[in-house]
Amino acid sequence: MRCPFCSMEETKVIDSRLVSDGYQVRRRRECGYCHERFTTFESAEVIVPKIIKNDGSREPFNEDKLRRGIQHALEKRPVSSDDVEKAISRIIYQLRATGERDVKSQELGRMVMAELKELDKVAYIRFASVYLSFDDINQFTNEIEKLKD
Ligand SMILES: [Zn+2]
Repeated sequence: MRCPFCSMEETKVIDSRLVSDGYQVRRRRECGYCHERFTTFESAEVIVPKIIKNDGSREPFNEDKLRRGIQHALEKRPVSSDDVEKAISRIIYQLRATGERDVKSQELGRMVMAELKELDKVAYIRFASVYLSFDDINQFTNEIEKLKD
């Protein structure tokens, strides 16, 4: 790559090490012309798909919004924030693993439900009742019956 000081192309790597828990490579480079040194960081480019809303429009995935939704369902429930963060990481991992440019919000909703089901059954029912828009007591009872199995 070009030297940021003199723009010559002959730069060489003089040191290379893993940083950010191994998710980045930090390289010290030296220009063969002006001998200035500079640092570059290399990391994988990973794309989180956009979310297709029910009305068909797309919006960027919003981690804070996801966190708020999960925390809302978990209000006053005995679940540690560490477990919540792990669940969020798994959801983001699954989103990336789809390899898609965009993912339907229903699909994201199902991922959240699967995580809440493991974390806390009450939170799961809270989320499901809003997400699946239960409009009668039977749907509610069915979902609770399923949890008992
Ligand atoms: Zn230079």
